[in-house]
Amino acid sequence: MSTVPVPSQSATRDVPTDVVAIDGPAGAGKSTVARALAKALGWAHLDTGAMYRAVTIRLLDLGAVAVVGERVTVDAARVGACIAGLELAIDGDGHVRVEGADVTPRLREPRVDVAVSAVAALAVVRERLRDTQREFARARPTVAEGRDIGTVVFPRAAFKIWLDASVEERARRRRVDHAGGGRDVPLADVVADLARRDALDSGRSLAPLARAADATVVDTTGLSVDEVVTRLWAIVVSRRTEAREGAR
Ligand code: C5P
Repeated sequence: MSTVPVPSQSATRDVPTDVVAIDGPAGAGKSTVARALAKALGWAHLDTGAMYRAVTIRLLDLGAVAVVGERVTVDAARVGACIAGLELAIDGDGHVRVEGADVTPRLREPRVDVAVSAVAALAVVRERLRDTQREFARARPTVAEGRDIGTVVFPRAAFKIWLDASVEERARRRRVDHAGGGRDVPLADVVADLARRDALDSGRSLAPLARAADATVVDTTGLSVDEVVTRLWAIVVSRRTEAREGAR
């Protein structure tokens, strides 16, 4: 996985820093861990993947994006028109509303899994969501998770974590998520979906899935959610102590 250098301070002056930025590949456990860490810190949780999924749902509903089998087609002019006036709201509990409608129950639909990486590669979508994500964190300290959080959205976040796990473990966890939603998906299909999305997300030119050079790597293979959250909590607390002692 490639790394991205830390940008200059002047380029990111007005971007919030009171942020734990968690990035990593699909199924690394980012959402579960970020939610629990946010709760432990008393901070808000921002699931940016849910935002990309919500926009994808809207574009599919409007016919600006279509899925046939594994093929995704994008009508760029219609996407631009839709994003320009899009009303999107996310709360700290992971609920997303688009044009006033709660789309949370639809976020993991199979056609959303197929289309979301193509939608997330579009500049007009990324710019809009980056601005909304920064606005969210400007209002409150935030644990934000996604693919470009420590590199592009919050490049001067106080804490940056790169969460990873073996592909087998990531697929097993995602399969359990699917089962929770009443879907029995063969393991091989889950592995294929994770591999396809990771390749698209890492290979795109805009804000690709990449590790910030100053992120701490945490491999969650074989660890429970509690063990990972305890580890991240320790990282946050020890950095805060270092910062306080450095300021004396
Ligand atoms: O995290 P989740 O699997 O829900 O993300 C769905 C998709 O949204 C990713 O595969 C990626 O294409 C896109 N995404 C992104 N940048 C983010 C978060 C998600 O491109 N910060």
